[in-house]
Amino acid sequence: MQPEQLFGMALGIVSPWEVKEISFSKEANRLDIYIDFQKGAQFPCPVCGALASVHDTTEKQWRHLNFFQYEAYLHARVPRVTCPNSGCGVKLVTVPWARAGSGFTLLFEALVMTMAREMPVNVIARLFNVTDTRLWRLLDAYVEMARTKEDFSGVTRIGIDETAAKRGHDYVSFFFDLDRKKLLFGTTGKDSTTINRFIADLEAHGGKPEQITDAAIDMSKAFIKGVKEQLPNAVVTFDPFHVVRLINDCLAKVRAEEARQFPDVLRKSRYLFLKNPEHLTLEQQHQLDSIIDSQNLKSTEAYTHKLNLQNVYFAKSRPEAEALLMHWHKKASRSSIAQINKLANTVKEHWNGILSHFASKLTSGFLEGINSLIQAAKARARGYRNPKNLITMAYIIAGKLRFNSLYPLPT
Ligand SMILES: [Zn+2]
Repeated sequence: MQPEQLFGMALGIVSPWEVKEISFSKEANRLDIYIDFQKGAQFPCPVCGALASVHDTTEKQWRHLNFFQYEAYLHARVPRVTCPNSGCGVKLVTVPWARAGSGFTLLFEALVMTMAREMPVNVIARLFNVTDTRLWRLLDAYVEMARTKEDFSGVTRIGIDETAAKRGHDYVSFFFDLDRKKLLFGTTGKDSTTINRFIADLEAHGGKPEQITDAAIDMSKAFIKGVKEQLPNAVVTFDPFHVVRLINDCLAKVRAEEARQFPDVLRKSRYLFLKNPEHLTLEQQHQLDSIIDSQNLKSTEAYTHKLNLQNVYFAKSRPEAEALLMHWHKKASRSSIAQINKLANTVKEHWNGILSHFASKLTSGFLEGINSLIQAAKARARGYRNPKNLITMAYIIAGKLRFNSLYPLPT
């Protein structure tokens, strides 16, 4: 068998296409595969599908999967056809190995899509010696294609969360389907207009705002306002994950301030205070116990308020939860720590939304889990220069999009 034939088979190239020539250069670190079509071949018109004759051709190149350690490229002259049906005009045909307009083969794109779930895009770019801008364009295109096929008609319970693309910058809001446990929509900003954009996207995918019965959100005024005004039938629940995050933020501040006062006692104790006790090793538990025993620290008091607030969520019913929350509130509002008093007020102001968790039973584990996946991707990428890239990555990780159906790979 000739190498041209072998490569043709391996690439899945079928008539009228054939591999004409292969050129390999160790020095240039590349393998070039030249494909051409048989003389007189006809191609389906990209508009109507009728077989059409070649009008002219354009030279194109596609990056393919590496051939061992060498970069591989496919080359072909791609025909424009004149369709026999009037109205179609002269059109560039689609080649079976690549998406229209892409400089990569479908197999290369499928590999990048798979790798992007696990690795930062700039690392993939370095591995293949391409710019990350080109890879982001590819990822965006697949996300966009997959999202056009999404059906949101069954969405009734949503969760909203916000995060920064970079530390403290460029906020992005994410909207999740709490029943299907997937990301529905991501948009830049964290104000109430993000909800307008979500609703427009929901409706574009067959969903209805009146159908939304529950919304799990954090206590941001913008989200509360947006949900109230635009999702008329949604009961607002302040997700336990967000409530606990507030007291963790508060505890972190109290501890950091106090650590400056008592550096010897509190050095390297951030993790001990912020992790749930069940996630500490025995040694870490001992360390924490000895800090707590050492003296009367504000950090210890804040820590106790945190554990008691978390404890509310072990309640089996709303009345039981309300009793526990009242008890927590009484103690927190009498605390000597200003931040804890402030949080007690915040809890009071959002009382019903906090307790509606026990009626709506919106799962918080999912939002928390998905948030940590997105945070992990952010950490791998050391933040995102562009918030749009964070959104694209979140769709890839958490959108449950069906990308596989988008690679019409040659068989
Ligand atoms: Zn046509």
